[in-house]
Amino acid sequence: MIDQLPPLREVIEHHGIAAKKSLGQNFLLDLNLTAKIARLAGDLSNADILEIGPGPGGLTRGLLAEGARRVVAIEKDPRCMAALAEIAAAYPGRLETINGDALQIDPYAHLSQPIKIAANLPYNVGTELLVRWLTPEHWPPFWESLTLMFQREVAQRIVAQPGNKAYGRLAVLAQWRATPQIVLDLPPEAFSPPPKVSSAVVHITALPAPRFEANANTLSKVVAAGFNQRRKMLRSALKSLSPEIEDHLIAAGIKPTERAEQIPIEGFCALARSLDHAKS
Ligand code: SAM
Repeated sequence: MIDQLPPLREVIEHHGIAAKKSLGQNFLLDLNLTAKIARLAGDLSNADILEIGPGPGGLTRGLLAEGARRVVAIEKDPRCMAALAEIAAAYPGRLETINGDALQIDPYAHLSQPIKIAANLPYNVGTELLVRWLTPEHWPPFWESLTLMFQREVAQRIVAQPGNKAYGRLAVLAQWRATPQIVLDLPPEAFSPPPKVSSAVVHITALPAPRFEANANTLSKVVAAGFNQRRKMLRSALKSLSPEIEDHLIAAGIKPTERAEQIPIEGFCALARSLDHAKS
């Protein structure tokens, strides 16, 4: 037992939180597992944790039981709020809940540094938020680390290396200014109801500075264009970015006939710098 609160099955039953597909609800019911995921987020005692999509509160309870200084949790489903209020009462002053859409809410005003982010989110919301967290103009970002549940296939895309089929936009953005690692694999049966595919927890630590210099916006555009047409040679996949794209590719040390999948992050950064240099 990680706390004195009722088991999650009882909480879900009591508050009528039957899982809704439309909200991507696959709940973790094993509190030993959620405490383990909380530990994967690192030392929580000196940090505020931003949790997105707490649902009935399995991971929230794990984070609090593992000593999080404070948790700020944003949940879209109003049915979960009463269950979350019971957790807040059991941990006075340490849990703030916000009912709303994490894609619309700026939680920054509710948090104090240092900040870590933890979430078990539906796939589409998770990827959208991950890209936002990885692409601010200035670095380091407002967060120190991200501990996020993804479909296993998405987790593999985040940690993929050049030359691998999974290497793409997510890998470049996650590895340019941060270090991602798959830290836990979970079978479908870990969730209720079980999803169709396996999941994995990815832990991403922000680096103090980017590995290679580049403008985040330009790099995002280069990578999006390059991997949108990943079978094409870069000189044609990136044509829309500049009429002199071949010159820029050569200046960046990239053969214009190569494909995005072969290019290390350093090459994309050099290309972004060359494009920006030509504009200024
Ligand atoms: N964290 C809980 C757990 O591990 O059992 C719930 C995980 S469930 C996969 C995803 C949760 O995210 C659900 O509670 C769902 O209502 C919530 N959610 C979905 N879209 C959201 C959004 N845009 N903003 C905030 N929460 C969202």
